Amino acid sequence: MNPFLELGIREEVVKAISEIGFEKPSEIQEKAIPVLLTGSDDFVGLAQTGTGKTAAFGLPLLEQLDFSQKHPQALILCPTRELCLQIAKDLEKFAKYIDNVHVVAVYGGANISDQLRQIRRGVQIVVATPGRMLDIIGRNAIDFSSVKYVVLDEADEMLNMGFQEDINNILSETPEEKKTWLFSATMPKEVRRIAQKYMTDPFELTVGTKNTGNANIEHQYFLVKARDKYAAFKRIVDSNPDIFGIVFCRTKIETQEIAEALIKDGYNADALHGDLSQQQRDKVMKRYRDRNLQMLIATDVAARGIDVNDVTHVINFSLPDEIENYTHRSGRTARAGKTGISISLINIKEQSKIRQLEKVIGKSFERKQVPEGAAVVEKQLLTIINKVNNVEVNEEQINQFMPAIMEGFESLSKEDIVKRFASLEFNRFLEYYKNSPDLNIEAREVSGDRRERDDRGPRQSSKGYTRLFMNLGSVDEFSRGDMLGFICNTANITGKSIGKIDLKGVFTFFEVQDEEVNKVFEGFKGIDFNGRQVRIEVSGASEGRSDRGSRPRGGGDRGGRGRSERSGGFGGERSGGFSGERRDRGGDNRGGDRGGRSRGGDRGGDNGGFRDFSGKRRESKSRY
Ligand code: ADP
Ligand code: MG
Repeated sequence: MNPFLELGIREEVVKAISEIGFEKPSEIQEKAIPVLLTGSDDFVGLAQTGTGKTAAFGLPLLEQLDFSQKHPQALILCPTRELCLQIAKDLEKFAKYIDNVHVVAVYGGANISDQLRQIRRGVQIVVATPGRMLDIIGRNAIDFSSVKYVVLDEADEMLNMGFQEDINNILSETPEEKKTWLFSATMPKEVRRIAQKYMTDPFELTVGTKNTGNANIEHQYFLVKARDKYAAFKRIVDSNPDIFGIVFCRTKIETQEIAEALIKDGYNADALHGDLSQQQRDKVMKRYRDRNLQMLIATDVAARGIDVNDVTHVINFSLPDEIENYTHRSGRTARAGKTGISISLINIKEQSKIRQLEKVIGKSFERKQVPEGAAVVEKQLLTIINKVNNVEVNEEQINQFMPAIMEGFESLSKEDIVKRFASLEFNRFLEYYKNSPDLNIEAREVSGDRRERDDRGPRQSSKGYTRLFMNLGSVDEFSRGDMLGFICNTANITGKSIGKIDLKGVFTFFEVQDEEVNKVFEGFKGIDFNGRQVRIEVSGASEGRSDRGSRPRGGGDRGGRGRSERSGGFGGERSGGFSGERRDRGGDNRGGDRGGRSRGGDRGGDNGGFRDFSGKRRESKSRY
């Protein structure tokens, strides 16, 4: 017999939940359902996120409401719109085979008249965020006089967000004799106070050790300098090509910045935080759920309670201010019995926080090394090999093109073809990770300056060519082709005399055959581009000099050829963001370490420990 039937759940519901893969009850369900089915007690359930609390209260509710009546009988309060929609959706799934079940999701930021209309049409279950609920109560638009059950889901987070008063006001609208069921992952003082104030002798159930993390989560940390955080983060992501992750930041601004940087760098990521419109948040969540996004960059509050299957990694880009939030964050992975990894990027001062976290979750963290560039490259390569091995070939479709394909590759050996295909995707990693520094803290301490120079890597010009610098680049709307034409026309030389062209943001390096260098200098004499004087120099020759413009022109001084370019000195190529490696994936990372101070990086640095959980509670609302 199906164990849910044994617990007393009706057949229609068991059928529905079987269809979504619930075979046997989770621990909290097994323990809570029999108690809640009696309908005679107030209830406090403490269990980690991802343990199935929604069904633990949802299934008993479905058993006890009278769906032939069309007035509100159950009210579920939860902290966020996302959670509200999720719970409503879950309940509708559970109730798929019960007739006349009406659930309404009531939350801010969406059209209130739609919600009012649904309420007027008749509902038995109201799932709501506190603010909008009060609004509707204030309009006298809902009748709670027949409410039998109130569920406070994620109670700790609701209090965290400053909803205490709203909750008081809402509860006072419901009948005395209703039962209150409170669910929470943690039990801070405030939750206990709520329980004491609104409940009579509640049945208390704790599943697992309070505050203890899910056993299926592996906790890891990486020790990096604040300014290297973003670069280290990218390496971790790049060495996990199949990552499907949630990245937590501490503030809305940081969240937005990281997301933007990632998008710029070609990652499939987006931000979720409270400054976005509801519509934007919906869109982002939908893309993430549909796996059209690989990484969701989120604030604590925005991602609270979110249930997305198969999240592989939770990444704490910044550790949370409040220790409890770590558990909530990591609880986004390893859901429904799966395994997951929770990664924290920390600086030296934050090591004590890791010790605190270990105490609280009762598990130790493993220190991991930021992978070296070469290791990332190898990982990516293996992924490409895998992809090629596993790609589904549509024989029918491709056959018609085979003759053309074969012809196109006629001159290439098998090995050449393989090399070229791999290079297609692989080049950007190769290039990006070329000469990449070690980002782990000790290594940096030891090798210091010398290594930073090496980062930029010496650039050699090809044999017989001189590498020149020009103060125009892609920001001047040059493509490489435009640049080639511009040089040839201005210097009156042919394209054949030009070697590699390295088009950068505000400048360009290009190679010219040694014997044509003078022509280039001659041709560009006194040339303006959009009102700016065009400057040509032998690359690297002016190392250490500030007066580039006045150095002797002409092919004479080639001394700098082949030496390190010191491109950082040109100032145009700052990464402009989180510093560390360059932001444009696919570019190289010379000069990367010069990127301005980490914007998102070091905020927690001055704070050796976690804020006391009870302290400054209100703040988290404004931070969200
Ligand atoms: P919580 O509210 O405790 O964080 P949820 O109720 O959101 O957890 O459930 C977490 C995930 O586990 C959801 O994807 C849910 O569908 C799944 N789940 C819940 N109960 C079961 C069960 N008995 N069997 C299989 N999966 C379940
Ligand atoms: Mg939940």
